[in-house]
Amino acid sequence: MAWIDLAAKVAVVTGGGAGIGRGIALGLAAVGADVVVLDRDEAASAVAAEIRDQGGRAAFFPCDVTSDDEVARVAEQMAAKVGPPAILVNNAGTMLPGGLDGMTMAEWDRVLSLNLTGYLRCARVFGEPMLERKAGAIVHVASISASCPQSYSGAYSVSKAGVVMLSRQLAVEWGPRGVRSNVVSPGMIRTPMTEGIYQAPGVLDARRRLVPAQRIGRPEDIADAVVFLASERASYITGEEIIVDGGFTKTLMGVIPRPGFEPG
Ligand code: NAD
Repeated sequence: MAWIDLAAKVAVVTGGGAGIGRGIALGLAAVGADVVVLDRDEAASAVAAEIRDQGGRAAFFPCDVTSDDEVARVAEQMAAKVGPPAILVNNAGTMLPGGLDGMTMAEWDRVLSLNLTGYLRCARVFGEPMLERKAGAIVHVASISASCPQSYSGAYSVSKAGVVMLSRQLAVEWGPRGVRSNVVSPGMIRTPMTEGIYQAPGVLDARRRLVPAQRIGRPEDIADAVVFLASERASYITGEEIIVDGGFTKTLMGVIPRPGFEPG
């Protein structure tokens, strides 16, 4: 028997059309899950098609997760066409540049409404059938910026810190009702969201050197942690956060000048 087997489990992935979400959708499909890709971009249907071409099971539903109506509509369509979800991966997120004194309040609201309120909305709607069946796993994609303030990125860090607490609160409230909730926090991952940054001269190498693993992360690195947390292998893990950053956030002590303690 496979170490992880999600056959016959319906898994919803928000923002599954690109980057980390696409990696997660492919990763879940590879261990047998029946994947539902939600994305506001119609081009995301290509991810579901890719999974089906590889012999897996997947469907795409266009959905803006900031809309109560759209999420409710998709949940109804899904129930009729695919069945109730056993797994939810909250992943759709965005980032806007701006200092806390420079951004507009509308920009603050926009980021929180997707990155934090969108996660709660999906947890409530897709979590309902899990609570009814007393079985389910929710994995939220946060960020290392949940713990380390990411400056000049508006509400981004605050939204991600909120996701970590949202997940813990869900774990405590829904644990006795059979639903687990955990977080995966990526470090630097190369995706459409960050590609512009890596195109700037010198950035790729400068960033790579900062990471103990000596490379920028890939969507598959995040997918592996998400698949584990979504599976029965993690059945006694809830309210936790797995940081997947190649060791980057553990490097703080190493930047302090300490004569006599250099590498030999
Ligand atoms: P991305 O921008 O490359 O892809 C995001 C996907 O979400 C796209 O397919 C987009 O169409 C979809 N989406 C955006 N808004 C949506 C909405 N309102 N409703 C439905 N779908 C929507 O982003 P990514 O880099 O893959 O990031 C995915 C998650 O990982 C985000 O939550 C992000 O904050 C987090 N993250 C990314 C990095 C990184 O380095 N890339 C690091 C830490 C955390």
